[in-house]
Amino acid sequence: MKRQKKDKDRDSESERKDFLKRLLLQKRKQILAEAKSEIGKFIRGENKQLVETALDDGDWSVVDLSEDINLRKLSEHKKTLERIDEALRKIEEGTYGICEDCGSEISEERLKVIPFAIYCVECMEKREKMEEFKEEEY
Ligand SMILES: [Zn+2]
Repeated sequence: MKRQKKDKDRDSESERKDFLKRLLLQKRKQILAEAKSEIGKFIRGENKQLVETALDDGDWSVVDLSEDINLRKLSEHKKTLERIDEALRKIEEGTYGICEDCGSEISEERLKVIPFAIYCVECMEKREKMEEFKEEEY
């Protein structure tokens, strides 16, 4: 009896993993597509193709180095993609859903809204405040 229950738990655990992975990969695709269409507004022709290929390869240096403020906004997309990759790695490791900072579990509701969240609400708020502070200093 006990053993059966365990197997069932493991099944639902791997189902959850698969579901999360699909969700994250879908989100990843969506963000990459958004980034590309943004780029299309600022760059045309041959260069656009070059940039798109670079993004597919995960090379964002064009965006990072760009002096065009509109293009630099795409760094947000990059950050999100990095978080998604991080979350995917965590799923593999079995550490998904655990806050990077304090090690407590991130609530299921939060993960539903932001499946790539790597911090719990409290730690995220702390970080956001810190970032605001940095920007003010600027
Ligand atoms: Zn935390």
